[in-house]
Parts: sequence; C-alpha cells; structure tokens
Amino acid sequence: MSAYKVADAQGLIKLDAMENPYNWPEDIKKDWLETLKDCPLNRYPDPEARQLVQTIKRLNQISDQFDVLLGNGSDEIIQLLLMALPHAARVLAPVPGFVMYKQLSDCLGLDYHGIPLLADSFDLDLPAMLSAIEQHQPSVIFLAYPNNPSGNLFSETSIREIIETGKGLVVLDEAYAPFAGASFINALAQHDNLLVMRTVSKLGLAGLRLGYITGNPGIIEQLNKIRLPYNINSLTQLSADFALSRKVLFDQQTQKICAERAAVFERLNELDGITAYPSAANFILFRTPEKQASTIFASIKQQGVLIKDLSSQGGLLSDCLRVTIGKPEENAAFLAALKKSLSTT
Ligand SMILES: *Cc1c(COP(=O)(O)O)cnc(C)c1O
Repeated sequence: MSAYKVADAQGLIKLDAMENPYNWPEDIKKDWLETLKDCPLNRYPDPEARQLVQTIKRLNQISDQFDVLLGNGSDEIIQLLLMALPHAARVLAPVPGFVMYKQLSDCLGLDYHGIPLLADSFDLDLPAMLSAIEQHQPSVIFLAYPNNPSGNLFSETSIREIIETGKGLVVLDEAYAPFAGASFINALAQHDNLLVMRTVSKLGLAGLRLGYITGNPGIIEQLNKIRLPYNINSLTQLSADFALSRKVLFDQQTQKICAERAAVFERLNELDGITAYPSAANFILFRTPEKQASTIFASIKQQGVLIKDLSSQGGLLSDCLRVTIGKPEENAAFLAALKKSLSTT
C-alpha cells in the first residue's frame, strides 16, 4: 500500500480538493468566536453530540424513526463500517470511485471488488453490478451520489435495483448533496439495508472534520459499538452547530458555486481537444488529448493553479483531470492556464 498523499498547495490557487472557496463574513466570524469563548476545553466533549445530532436531523429532515451517527469526517464513518465487518468480508463499489473505499478495505484485510462504470456516461453498468452482487454477496456496497471523480448522478432505477438485490448494506455516499438537488434520504423508509452518508466538508466546513450517517437504528447501534467515545471534539460540535444553523449563508455560497459550475463547463467544452463531463457536484472531470494529461496538469500548476491529475489511475480515467469549482476569478485563472497549456503541448 501507499499512504494517501495530499499535494502541497502553498502559493497556488487551490482547486484540487472540492473545498468551498468562500469563508465567512466578519460579523459571522465574530458571533462564532463568541460561541466558542466559554467552551469547556478541560472537559471531554458530549460523547453523543446530542445538540449537533438534533440540528443535523432537523436540517436534513431525518425523521425520528432513524438514528444518526457522527464521524470525524465521513472517511471515519467508512472506516467504522468496514471495521464492523468480519475478516475477509466482501466490499463492492463501482470504479472509478472514491479512493477511500478501497484504501480502507485493503487496510482491514477485506475483499474489495471494483466494478467498472460504463465508458462515456460513467453510469452504473447494472448487469455487471447485479452479477457481481450475485457472485460475491458483498456485505457492503458503496455508491457515491453524485460520484467522485466523475461528478454524475447514477441512474436512480439502477440504484434501486441494487438496493433491492443486495442482501448486505448499501451506503449512498452523498458527500456532494448540497450541489446535487437529488438524494436517497427519502428512500430510507422503504429499504432496511440502506444507509445515507453525508459530510459538511464539501458544503464549506472541511476544516471541522464532520460526517454523518443515518438509517435503520439497529444498524447504527452496531456501528456505535465500534466508534471511539469522543470522536467529535467540542470545538467541532459547537462550530458545526453554529454554522449549520446559518443555512442561508451556505445556500448563497452553494448557488454561486453551481452557477460557476455551469459557466466553467461551457468554457471547457469550447476548448479544442477537451471534453468536460456533466457534473452534479462542485467539481468537473474533463478529458484531455491522448497522453497529455500529466503535461497539461504540470503546465497549469506551473502557472499557479493546482487541480487534480487522475490520469495515472488509468482505465476510464486515462487522460482525465479534475477541477474543483472556485471563485469566479480562480476559475478564470484556471481556464486561462489550461488554454495556454493546450497551445504549447
Ligand atoms: C470528499 C468525500 C468524502 C470524504 O469526506 P470527509 O467528510 O471530508 O471525510 C466521502 N465521500 C466522497 C464521495 C467524497 O468525495
């Protein structure tokens, strides 16, 4: 294995990690610091983070028939879920997908199976998924909705068929829900084996490290046995509760990001040799001319903009780069750098 390395972005316009580019207005920062002022750091945090859980339930309209478990980022929840499985249990996910499903499965000695998505559309290959379920009987299936790194929403009917066919858990990873306008959270009542996982990272609170998963209380109870008692620190509990209660702020930021996503998508597809894929997330995957992705990536970086080079992963990602949607001026800098790199490669 190799460690999950994060590129050094010092001095660069950072469009590589799906972060929200906007921080908070000064008056909100002031209120926030006021909230933190009397936080008892000498005490352990509330192990159940009850107030924050209530806020999360209210904002996501999660009914009381479902429980919520919090994690130190949804990465930790993926780890918890996988730790709950017996040795050598099977884990299934479409590929290309979120790298942590495989990374953590490998770490824990689980039997991970990646099932290729359809070329061009990056949608689920339903017959291949169903036969893999039949063959491997996975304990957990991960479906990112929208998918990272392709940005698309998988077909809803395919997902439903997978949930109904799989005898194990199906985790809908909705990390990009704020940008997607689609969710399976309302399908929880129909499927006992369905869990919906979200994070505040892509919404604009990546520094807090907070993710959550909701579904059948019987399953959440099992996951709670594995969770470390104080996994959500006091500052995160207070800050997340403060921030999520100011939803309007994030809604405004999210709208700006979605508008920029449409503009960047259009500009990318105007460039000769570039194919951008439609995205329901806050990033866009695009294909560059054959065997030039790494050169183009390096040239863009040379010009001061850090995006993500996915081409070395091969398969459907050969020749592919991914850009996170930033502020208008950052996106303009990226597009100018890309244009220049194309004219010189
Ligand atoms: C970013 C991402 C996550 C991890 O989010 P954290 O809460 O920051 O750990 C999980 N799933 C997908 C699909 C992601 O893209």
